[in-house]
Amino acid sequence: MSKRVINFNPGPAALPLPVLEEIRDELLNYKGCGMSVLEISHRSDTFTSVIEDAEKRLRRLMGLGDDFTVLFLQGGASFQFAMIPMNLLGGDRHADYVNTGTWSTKAIKEAKIQGKKINVVASSEDKDFTYIPGEIEFTEGATYVHITSNNTIKGTQWAQFPDTGGIPIVCDMSSDILSREIPVEKFGLIYAGAQKNLGPAGVTVVIIRRDLLELVPEDLPTMLKYTTFSEKKSLFNTPPCFAIYVVQLVLKWLEETVGGVDKIEEINRQKAKILYELIDSSDFYRGTAEPNSRSVMNVTFRLPTPELEAKFIEEAAANGLAGLKGHRSVGGCRASIYNATSLSAVQTLVDFMDGFAKKNR
Ligand SMILES: *Cc1c(COP(=O)(O)O)cnc(C)c1O
Repeated sequence: MSKRVINFNPGPAALPLPVLEEIRDELLNYKGCGMSVLEISHRSDTFTSVIEDAEKRLRRLMGLGDDFTVLFLQGGASFQFAMIPMNLLGGDRHADYVNTGTWSTKAIKEAKIQGKKINVVASSEDKDFTYIPGEIEFTEGATYVHITSNNTIKGTQWAQFPDTGGIPIVCDMSSDILSREIPVEKFGLIYAGAQKNLGPAGVTVVIIRRDLLELVPEDLPTMLKYTTFSEKKSLFNTPPCFAIYVVQLVLKWLEETVGGVDKIEEINRQKAKILYELIDSSDFYRGTAEPNSRSVMNVTFRLPTPELEAKFIEEAAANGLAGLKGHRSVGGCRASIYNATSLSAVQTLVDFMDGFAKKNR
């Protein structure tokens, strides 16, 4: 394939083309320093300005005050499943978890492995995780409530964040961070692997309300403590420099080219709307998530038969539409339409789906 395709991959996922071009253009000689950004010290002034700019932009885009610290860590979102209870549930503290799919299930498992006291206060497993539970009763005295804001595999998303009665929400936002405006005051900790909406694989953004850092047990190994990284501004040891640099460029693109989170939210809602409208108006495609729990980022759907699904994915790829296969654990089809995927890209997909349905029904 000699030309770029439209990329609906679930993660790692599409990056904005201007960002890729900027990386290409400055790869050999970063801002006149005579070296690649891949070759410079993480303690150099050049890299310091990259990581500081990334943090400033993230703070502005998300509306984070000084009461939050921003960390750039490694290990992926999956590492946070373990690190969160390890750091926040010392002594006999306990937490609530809501199970909305594969990623929540994994987060729950990692807390339990450590023998932490957690209550699974709601779950949508009874209907194969096709909806977001409502009317949840949280446990008095819980240190936090853990949720997964967007369920990348099942195609569901919290439209509103739950009222926890003031218990801080700890949220896996890997697949919808910066896709919409959020009430940051509800959150104690937000984490996201970068490779869906923020940049490349290799860096995980962790945003923590500073008062929660007081809960971090002293006797944890150095590399497993949030305070190690908050005290050294993510530079205790060598951070994933290149990934952080790409995140900085994506954040700059979101701020300066798109015009901020309110703008991208409008575009994201429009993208999801035209795709779900096509699905709902057809007797050929069937959405898998309950309508009021549908994700704006990952649109999951089925065709009448697995054979037609295979044909659809193959023909789409031949037409320059890549990455439409559903997660291996659920099958079917999924269009991941993160920030970097344009409205016109989604319109091209809608047109293709419309034509495919007419030819194959
Ligand atoms: C992709 C994903 C993960 C896993 O992220 P890693 O960085 O690969 O560990 C966790 N949670 C959600 C919601 C995801 O979409």
